[in-house]
Amino acid sequence: MKTPPAKKQTASTTNPETSSTITKYPDIRHDLERQRASLLSEAGEVLTHRENPEALPDVSDQASAEVDQGFSMRIRDRERKLLKKIDEALERMNTETYGICEGCGGEIPYKRLKARPVTTFCIECKTAQEEKEQARS
Ligand SMILES: [Zn+2]
Repeated sequence: MKTPPAKKQTASTTNPETSSTITKYPDIRHDLERQRASLLSEAGEVLTHRENPEALPDVSDQASAEVDQGFSMRIRDRERKLLKKIDEALERMNTETYGICEGCGGEIPYKRLKARPVTTFCIECKTAQEEKEQARS
């Protein structure tokens, strides 16, 4: 009885992991990193301007200075939130869960990711979510 040739150690065994460890969306990662860098530099500019009295349109007007301060605080809050979303998106790329819809577990279409790289829902789930929120209010 002839035994079939035992598991040949072929050199051509391709490890699928080695080829796909790099993110599926290199250009979106690039976009996110660029947006992150510009947000950080803008935040730096806001801080620099606040230390420069000439940047305030009317220094003598205390009220408008306070409004200005509140405004830049809001901007920074929004920037911080966006930065957090960008960080989370980059983190999902590292764990290879990026582009997976949190609602249905399906893949979010590339076009949508390109337009809104920090999204975690596909259009169907996002629309359903928004409809639910509107119905509640
Ligand atoms: Zn979905």
